[in-house]
Amino acid sequence: MAGTGHPGRAPAVAAPHRDGVTVAPNDHDLSQHGTGTVDEAELPYLRRCIELAAEAVDAGDWPFGSVLVDADGKILAEDRNRESTTGDPTRHPEFELVRWAVTHLSPEERAAATVYTSGEHCPMCAAAHGWAGLGRIVYASSSRQARDWKAEWGVPVTSPLAPLSVQDVVPGQEVAGPVPELAEQVRELQWRFRQRNSAGD
Ligand SMILES: [Zn+2]
Repeated sequence: MAGTGHPGRAPAVAAPHRDGVTVAPNDHDLSQHGTGTVDEAELPYLRRCIELAAEAVDAGDWPFGSVLVDADGKILAEDRNRESTTGDPTRHPEFELVRWAVTHLSPEERAAATVYTSGEHCPMCAAAHGWAGLGRIVYASSSRQARDWKAEWGVPVTSPLAPLSVQDVVPGQEVAGPVPELAEQVRELQWRFRQRNSAGD
C-alpha cells in the first residue's frame, strides 16, 4: 500500500489537537454531537467504560459501560449493561448511575459529577440524567455512530425510542464526544456482540 495521497497519518499538518485529545473532526456532522472537548486526563474513565462494555459482552449483555466521577476525579460508581442477563430492558448503566446518584449524592454533588459512558445516552437515560440534575456527559461513541454502524451492517433498528441526542432530550446539557479511537473500540464490541448473538451462544 504505497501511500499516494491517503492522509492516514498526516505529518505535522494540522490535526486538530487543542489542549486535550482530538475530538471528532470539526465538520457539519458534529451538529448532533457533543460540543465540548474531551481532555486527555479523562480518557482513562472512558477506557474503563469500554472495559465494562467488554465485560457486558462476555456476559451476554449489550456492550455498554458507564462510570460516575465526582468533582475531584474520584470514581463513585460504575456499571455495565444488564438487559439480557436480567430480562429488564431498562437496565442501562447510565440509568443505574442515576439511581445511585439520587440515593447517595446531594443535588450539588450531582451537578458537579461527570458521567462517562461508552455510548451516548439513549433518550430514556438522558431524561433520567436530566431529572436527577447530573453534570457533564462524556461519551466515547455517539448514538449517530451506532445508527451508522447498524446501517452499514444491515442490522434493523430495534429501539422503540425516537433517535434523539442527549441535547434533544435535555436542552443545555453539557456533552462531549465522541473520541474517534475509542469509538472504534466500541464499534468492535458491537460487532462482537452481534456475531455472538447470531452464532447463538
Ligand atoms: Zn439508556
